Amino acid sequence: MTIPQDQKPCIDLHCHTTASDGALDPEQLVARAAEQGVTHLAITDHDTIAGLASARAAALPLGLALINGIELSCVWRSHTIHIVGLDFDHTSDAFNAALARQNDNRWQRARLIADKLHRLKVDDLLDKATAAAGGDVPGRPHFAQVLVEAEVVPKVAHAFKRYLGAGKPGDVKACWPELEEVVGWVNAAGGIAVLAHPRKYRLTATRLRELTADFRRAGGRAIEVSVSGQSSGDLGFVAELTRREQLLASQGSDFHFPGAPWCELGRIQKMPEGLDPVWHHFRQPVSASSAQSGAWNSR
Ligand code: AMP
Ligand code: ZN
Ligand code: FE
Ligand code: FE
Repeated sequence: MTIPQDQKPCIDLHCHTTASDGALDPEQLVARAAEQGVTHLAITDHDTIAGLASARAAALPLGLALINGIELSCVWRSHTIHIVGLDFDHTSDAFNAALARQNDNRWQRARLIADKLHRLKVDDLLDKATAAAGGDVPGRPHFAQVLVEAEVVPKVAHAFKRYLGAGKPGDVKACWPELEEVVGWVNAAGGIAVLAHPRKYRLTATRLRELTADFRRAGGRAIEVSVSGQSSGDLGFVAELTRREQLLASQGSDFHFPGAPWCELGRIQKMPEGLDPVWHHFRQPVSASSAQSGAWNSR
């Protein structure tokens, strides 16, 4: 299908493909986004832009505007934090060099995770997780999948709860760069750094305000306000934080795989009033009546 030219923008600025831990490859993801009525999409794979070229090729004939995206891992006061980068120059040498280092960090972390989970006695854990990642560097969801297949745990959620989630043995943070550094990479490549899913870090309100203030001081410009599966209380809290820190507001589904009723491409809570949308600040701003344009896809 091709998106009709007269419809309102439907904007999803956070999702994953097989280039990281998503289930759909970039072409399949773009096709599904178009079916769901998404007009402006950013694919934000963990620490890689490997899916962007094929996504761009798939988006062009569908009239779907693809915004450059990534989700970068970093550390702030011993918490793993995710920074979404949007609308950066994907040809920047410095940015690509930083991503190459981040890929090395991911491999180092994968080896450490496998070591930490050695006592579970799953044979060839790292190799199996690597295979689950399609031969690329495995993330925690790939380790979780192997633990399910080895019947160490019944479900992925249990794997996170016992072995891979925050504070558990497989939650290795030592490999990530500091928040300030990662925000700097995005800014140096002309992009916008967005603090991803702020309520997912299980920080107290005070700590989250401190994180947000540090993020802004580091050059961060936006917060994900509207994300899937968030309570209306959390939505209001994050909206207020965003206003107070005078940051831009982003939104995204964080879609990883089909079949989860709480998470679908383009299906996002309505953004609260009085916020400045991040997409008004893209190099090619998305306006209320914005029809998609091929210019997005040719960059
Ligand atoms: P990684 O970048 O390898 O640390 O993996 C992060 C990803 O793990 C997130 O984007 C989610 O897809 C997944 N994840 C994190 N926590 C959980 C959890 N408690 N249950 C299921 N998946 C999770
Ligand atoms: Zn993920
Ligand atoms: Fe994330
Ligand atoms: Fe994500």
